[in-house]
Amino acid sequence: MTGTDGRSVPVEERGVVVIGAGPAGLAAAIGARRAGADDVCVIERDRIPGGILNQCIHDGFGLFLYEETISGPEYAERLAEEAVQAGVRFETGTMVLDLTGDRLIKVNARSGYRILRAGAVVLAMGCRERTREMIEIPGTRPAGIFTAGCAQNLVNLQNIRIGREAVILGSGDIGLIMARRMAFEGMAVKGVFEILPWPNGLERNVRQCLGDFGIPLELSSTIVEIRGRNRLESVVVARVDPDLRPIAGSERTVACDTLLLSVGLIPENELAKRAGVALSPLTGGAEVDERFMTSVPGIFSCGNVLHIHDVADWASFEGLKAGAGAAAFAANRQADSRSAGAGEFRIYPGSGIRYVVPQILRSGAADVELDFRPDRPRRDERVGLRGRTTGRIYRRKKYPRLLPSEMAKISLPGVVEEDVEVWCGD
Ligand SMILES: Cc1cc2nc3c(=O)[nH]c(=O)nc-3n(C[C@H](O)[C@H](O)[C@H](O)COP(=O)(O)OP(=O)(O)OC[C@H]3O[C@@H](n4cnc5c(N)ncnc54)[C@H](O)[C@@H]3O)c2cc1C
Repeated sequence: MTGTDGRSVPVEERGVVVIGAGPAGLAAAIGARRAGADDVCVIERDRIPGGILNQCIHDGFGLFLYEETISGPEYAERLAEEAVQAGVRFETGTMVLDLTGDRLIKVNARSGYRILRAGAVVLAMGCRERTREMIEIPGTRPAGIFTAGCAQNLVNLQNIRIGREAVILGSGDIGLIMARRMAFEGMAVKGVFEILPWPNGLERNVRQCLGDFGIPLELSSTIVEIRGRNRLESVVVARVDPDLRPIAGSERTVACDTLLLSVGLIPENELAKRAGVALSPLTGGAEVDERFMTSVPGIFSCGNVLHIHDVADWASFEGLKAGAGAAAFAANRQADSRSAGAGEFRIYPGSGIRYVVPQILRSGAADVELDFRPDRPRRDERVGLRGRTTGRIYRRKKYPRLLPSEMAKISLPGVVEEDVEVWCGD
């Protein structure tokens, strides 16, 4: 093939190629090896494997995978070591630039531009953070405004003090964890402001990161103006009505030199789009079947690039399954019917459910586990799985508590051969 400079570049034939070495990608590579793939490599743009875990120096990871709570870097180290032991090859410092529907992968490595052809590909590129521009906060453009993950990187990995008085917009997990981290760094944390009437992060993080440190959480509030010339000087906060519109007259000024934004994560799907993968408007990630294969045969997806996970272990468990699916595909080069839509059924989010993954069920698939999130906090709620053609109820399960911030699970019992709806309520 021809490279960007017009020179001929040989195409390297590969087995299973995983893009991204976070908890999802590392587990996918292990899953592929366990399922018998003999040529498995992980391509990672960073110098070291681990993904976002490397900057999460707090503990709380690994409760389900390792049955103990460890820090992010420890989790990354264990999983990377398991991958090495399993015979996975790593190509770090290597950026995937392009992916085609027939699994040609163009990379920029230390050794230069290369082209690989994979038997199967697993997408595990994680996510990116929403920025000030995306949520359109009015005001000036001073220094001192960071996304929470960027601040975490500067503080935890580069030992940089980013300011003295902080305000946090958004109560997602990264914002909560960074509120505590800022307090550890000796900063005055003036408050966490959340536009929704409920916190957007895990309940344990609200308790451990804010409650234990006396950091106020103001719900149904947002920032309506940013002030400051060179450095941030203050933000104007206001309460919002049930339609999330600022209430006139409720504004007040909060002095601060640092604003952290924790206002949502977006699956990193530029490569998926290039390859023609169908994306879900509900998750921002690919639509997958129960093997985690996307609409493009031989391209699989897992972890935050598929849908945002609150717990790294779930990303890893998903990776194991996606890796096994990729190994099977690469071994058989299956003539797959996915793209034709034959022999498959859809799983729909019904009343009270924000989204469900996987979205596709192939004929004959047994005991499929579904991940879902509710549309709002719910207590003592029953969730059901109902056949759309027959009206048959396949499962009813009671949940003492369902929160949009915590992914929940429910399984389809046995083999179901019709479209299914997941719904909440009676
Ligand atoms: C601040 C923060 C705190 C968290 N705290 C906890 C916690 O306490 N407990 C818990 O269980 N979970 C926690 N999580 C959640 C958990 O860390 C994530 O769900 C998990 O890391 C997602 O894994 P991933 O492999 O999908 O993505 P990532 O970890 O983001 O990995 C994606 C990898 O893909 C690489 N990549 C992307 N594009 C390319 C490309 N084109 N070429 C090559 N490589 C590429 C990236 O460099 C990265 O290494 C936290 C998350 C954050 C952000």
